[in-house]
Amino acid sequence: MTAGAPCETSSQAKTDGCCRRAPAGSATVRIDMAVPKRKTSKSRRDKRRAQHKIAIPMVATCSACSAPKLSHRVCPSCGTYRGRRYSTTDAALA
Ligand SMILES: [Zn+2]
Repeated sequence: MTAGAPCETSSQAKTDGCCRRAPAGSATVRIDMAVPKRKTSKSRRDKRRAQHKIAIPMVATCSACSAPKLSHRVCPSCGTYRGRRYSTTDAALA
């Protein structure tokens, strides 16, 4: 559609969704949102939700104090990461 031309006179008035008119008497309906064509079946919905589960955290052991810790993180019990001490809390210094 060219700029400034009203939709009604344009050849794209039917296909362009900018100001498509509803049946006579009702207001102009804007159709600009994608809408699913079909209802999602119970099977399809449940198959999608079968993947929705909480992942088990990958627990590694600290090389300094062998306490369980998350990998790529400072050890919560001794405060070290790859041989260097980062945390200065009382629990870490003990
Ligand atoms: Zn540790």
